[in-house]
Amino acid sequence: MIRPFTYQALPMRVVFGAGSLARLPDEVAALGLTRVLVLCSPEQEAIGQQVAAALEAAAAGVLPEARMHVPVEIAARARELAADLGADGCVAVGGGSAVGLGKAIALEHGLPVIAVPTTYAGSEMTPVWGLTEGGQKRTGRDVRVLPRSVLYDPEMTLTLPALMSATSGMNAIAHAVEGLYAPDATPIVSLMAEEGVRALAAALPRVVADGSDLDARGEAQYGAWLCGAVLAATTMSLHHKLCHTLGGTLDLPHAQTHTVVLPHALAYNQPAAPDAVAALSRALGGGPDPARELWELAGRLGAPRSLRELGMTEEDIPRIAGFAVANPYANPGPVTRDGVQALLRAAWAGEPPRAGTATAVPTRPTERRSRT
Ligand code: NAD
Repeated sequence: MIRPFTYQALPMRVVFGAGSLARLPDEVAALGLTRVLVLCSPEQEAIGQQVAAALEAAAAGVLPEARMHVPVEIAARARELAADLGADGCVAVGGGSAVGLGKAIALEHGLPVIAVPTTYAGSEMTPVWGLTEGGQKRTGRDVRVLPRSVLYDPEMTLTLPALMSATSGMNAIAHAVEGLYAPDATPIVSLMAEEGVRALAAALPRVVADGSDLDARGEAQYGAWLCGAVLAATTMSLHHKLCHTLGGTLDLPHAQTHTVVLPHALAYNQPAAPDAVAALSRALGGGPDPARELWELAGRLGAPRSLRELGMTEEDIPRIAGFAVANPYANPGPVTRDGVQALLRAAWAGEPPRAGTATAVPTRPTERRSRT
């Protein structure tokens, strides 16, 4: 039976394919932009300069200062530079950090953003912005920050190291997993989620085996696009809440934390989310326990499987569990302190995921849109 739903499409334009970066000047011109600021992280300055050179007179400058979680001082500098240069738009080249900086400028000045993603994080598909001040990250939704055009060029991901490819891909899969059991899941978004997981689970082992395999890179990026679109369309639950808390409180690395926590959060929720389990089983090759399948996949990819190896101590577990249950949020089953503590202990130790006991008694999603 199809349950009642409300679906709101986002105005997104996607250009996909190897070599599509060559179409960037046309995308800039199609938006009527003549002076764009190119944004990237310091490690990707060379590629930022290359993009600016290809844009010729349409590039106003390059700001290679994007940082994880968009510190407010960097956002302020970027906004000031955009104003000083008279920029009329931004091109964000990189992962979620570069896209996040473009969103911070768009939030204040309304400048359109074009994104050229080089990881699988998915921020380019969402109207969600984030800003960090004094260790506290604020997030919000505003359609002005949604990139107007996204160029997915798998060639831009060829340099992403194997470990980062694996964890960034698992980060993308996490969006789809939580989208499948979201309170605002819809049939079309669930199709995207299932196909996104299938594509990434198939592609990531090939990407890790041979980072120069353009075909595998293309399939991984196709999956990342779908998973990013799912993130944009649905409300995230326990998994994203835990990763947000672990990242914000202990400064654990974003994609690696998602990789470790995902099998455990899914195992916790599986008893309360039979439709999601069915979709994930299909996407992951048919096994009855997708949480275990994802844990095995992370192992095969050589990705971290314990929070201990990411720097968390055992003493941190009760505190993080306390934060994770402090405010109610959308989740397919009840979130209990004991349950979350057991989940975190298994994730901390690197044990296989244990099935949760939650059954479907939806909590009220009073805290909407807990996302990245
Ligand atoms: P990132 O953008 O911070 O990149 C990580 C590192 O990888 C950087 O040093 C970068 O220079 C490097 N890198 C990126 N692509 C590369 C490539 N192709 N080759 C070599 N090096 C490369 O990491 P991320 O995981 O993409 O993004 C994480 C950030 O994005 C977090 O702040 C997260 O909260 C945010 N995020 C936001 C949303 C949203 O919807 N707002 C969604 C997902 C993630």
